[in-house]
Amino acid sequence: MANLKINDINKNFGSTEVLKGINLDINDGDFLVLLGPSGCGKSTLLNTIAGLETSNSGEILIDNHVVNNMEPSDRDIALVFQSYALYPAMTVRKNVTFGLEQRKTPKEKISEALNEVSNLLQINELLDRKPSQLSGGQRQRVAMGRALVRHPKVFLFDEPLSNLDAKLRVEMRREIKKLHKRLKTTIVYVTHDQTEAMSLGTNIAIMDQGKIQQCDTPKNIYNKPQNMFVADFIGSPSMNLLEGSLNNKMFKPNGSDNVQIPLEKYDFINKNINNGSIFLGIRPEHVYFDKVNEDCFGIKLKSEIIEYTGHEQIITFNFSGQQFLGKFPSTIDIQMDKELDLYIDLKQISLFDKNTQNRI
Ligand code: ADP
Ligand code: MG
Repeated sequence: MANLKINDINKNFGSTEVLKGINLDINDGDFLVLLGPSGCGKSTLLNTIAGLETSNSGEILIDNHVVNNMEPSDRDIALVFQSYALYPAMTVRKNVTFGLEQRKTPKEKISEALNEVSNLLQINELLDRKPSQLSGGQRQRVAMGRALVRHPKVFLFDEPLSNLDAKLRVEMRREIKKLHKRLKTTIVYVTHDQTEAMSLGTNIAIMDQGKIQQCDTPKNIYNKPQNMFVADFIGSPSMNLLEGSLNNKMFKPNGSDNVQIPLEKYDFINKNINNGSIFLGIRPEHVYFDKVNEDCFGIKLKSEIIEYTGHEQIITFNFSGQQFLGKFPSTIDIQMDKELDLYIDLKQISLFDKNTQNRI
């Protein structure tokens, strides 16, 4: 087990900057999820930590030792890929123990380690099979076994569940969580799946275009997004972002002449901020048909579209020309093309500056 520190890492492929000043502090036993859209640089960052790629500048420290110039095999890191990368000609047993044999580990030690890992991952019955005789989930388990058997200081996962079908993905997700609870290993886990990120991580680093946009607990990422990218990226459907103007702690949405939303209870980062063009963010699940608390702001909006998803329904309203979504239990009846009384919970809003796109 170890801590991992990433100091101002930059990485170019030719003239393309792929990592732009990445800083991360990962404590012993943390489960950090790197979450971001495809192509934002997640795998490049993971490969740089593992030593498969070299950075152009910056430092990587494991347990306070700089490892930039260390070979991947000397870093005491295990990497599990999406593609499993098992040796097809070897049995499961051999796949798991091969690395230890290469390192001339004593026979009893190897057999002990194999025992421990196959019990932990429940692959005892599979030891004599070849990878081609395994299901996707079993292959993924073997790939994790091969990584675990070395007791690495840090575990790196690169989208390990992407090749599995939806049901198995949820099961394996739970198993990885269990494994972390039990072993308390430091983990950096890459995914583009926000549910996977929210449910697995002790911390989530949201990445976009080679930069960390926010690194925080899942709850803070969800409730206090630091900028509009994070606000929009997390949550399904996304947070409503109403464009308008701020004036003396009142919000006037664009296109509406008579709506003024009071913001005096909002926790502004800059207490002196007074006016300007802003976005008011509110999640569709924080819009209600009842006044659920004292901080609710009442408004009449016309319902336009209904999307039924089984346990929920998503309604599109017209907010003075701006699209505005609400998410409700599917058990209630909602009329379409009608002006309806709604309540927005002002305790749950986020405000963003239109120019900087940052939380204010
Ligand atoms: P992610 O894992 O977030 O999908 P990657 O780290 O794989 O993103 O890629 C980040 C960017 O770097 C992409 O634009 C990709 O095309 C580019 N890239 C990745 N590897 C190489 C490489 N070996 N040579 C050139 N460009 C690369
Ligand atoms: Mg990738």
